[in-house]
Amino acid sequence: MKLLSVVLPAYNEEQMIEETWKTLERILKKAEIPFELVFVNDGSSDHTWEKIETISRRDSQVTGVCFSRNFGKEAAIVAGLAHAKGEAVAVMDCDLQHPPETLIRMYQLWMQGYEVVEGVKKDRGKESFFHKECAGFFYRIMSKAAKVDMRNASDFKLLDQKAVESILQMPEKNLFFRAASSWIGYKTISVEFQVEERRAGESKWSAKSLVEYAFTNIVSFTTAPMQFVTVTGLLCFFFSLILGVYSLIQYFGGHAVAGYTTLLIVLLLIGSAIMMSLGIIGYYIAKIYEEVKQRPRYIVSKIIRKKKEDSDEGKNQRSV
Ligand code: UDP
Ligand code: MG
Repeated sequence: MKLLSVVLPAYNEEQMIEETWKTLERILKKAEIPFELVFVNDGSSDHTWEKIETISRRDSQVTGVCFSRNFGKEAAIVAGLAHAKGEAVAVMDCDLQHPPETLIRMYQLWMQGYEVVEGVKKDRGKESFFHKECAGFFYRIMSKAAKVDMRNASDFKLLDQKAVESILQMPEKNLFFRAASSWIGYKTISVEFQVEERRAGESKWSAKSLVEYAFTNIVSFTTAPMQFVTVTGLLCFFFSLILGVYSLIQYFGGHAVAGYTTLLIVLLLIGSAIMMSLGIIGYYIAKIYEEVKQRPRYIVSKIIRKKKEDSDEGKNQRSV
């Protein structure tokens, strides 16, 4: 059997670390799958790192990577991928909302030769109406951009080493893992799973962070909003052409009324279209600026890995 690495991004998950570790250990042992767990502490402000350290000392299959601050889930996933040594690497949330039993099914599919095994949500679990609608809108745009159906996509995936290398080779700092893993191609299959309820702790997403997340990822994956700017510009142009002709006819017909209302409307319309367009373009420029700075995606402050008989620390470690 080949080694499976499980990457677990963790942000303020002190209540979940131990339970997740125990559950995964029990299930994977029973299935006789050799595994390692890579916990990435994404700058938690609680005792997540201490918990990871404790279990890592007890269990040589546990590796801990600690960020110097909160860099976000995508960065934590990338760091986990970079530090994983398995021939297959799975990514899952460490709140056990992704059922570990599905992991076994994914591993079996990988053994059958699939290189990317995607976890697809059966339904989206308990979410508010507003959340559902916003997520729906976001995924429609993303699905168009990535040319795959992303409506029920999740970060629960199992990737072959080759696929992991391909993702790590992508130079952009603002990587959207869900879309990137389908963009790379490879022999892909999806597995349905039921989203479990979070057992402890709370969701890390506020409405503001979700909107930000959506904008960042749309911009990092598609230029469609820029085309929207062009289209709006064209529409405005045609509209003003019609109005222009109309007012000229009025003028020569001798009915040159003080078209104050029309003027105001047109002015407002064009003004707002321009401002909106500038905003969208500005957003892209900001993202380009971020990318050209070439800052690292994350900064690791500590790594903990219990050495086995012969230490393999540092060996095989992929750099990003
Ligand atoms: N997470 C992270 N960094 C963040 C936010 C979240 O590593 O800045 C992790 C979190 O610890 C969890 C996973 O991402 O393992 C999913 O987060 P959460 O459960 O809050 O999201 P939800 O399930 O509500 O979509
Ligand atoms: Mg969750």
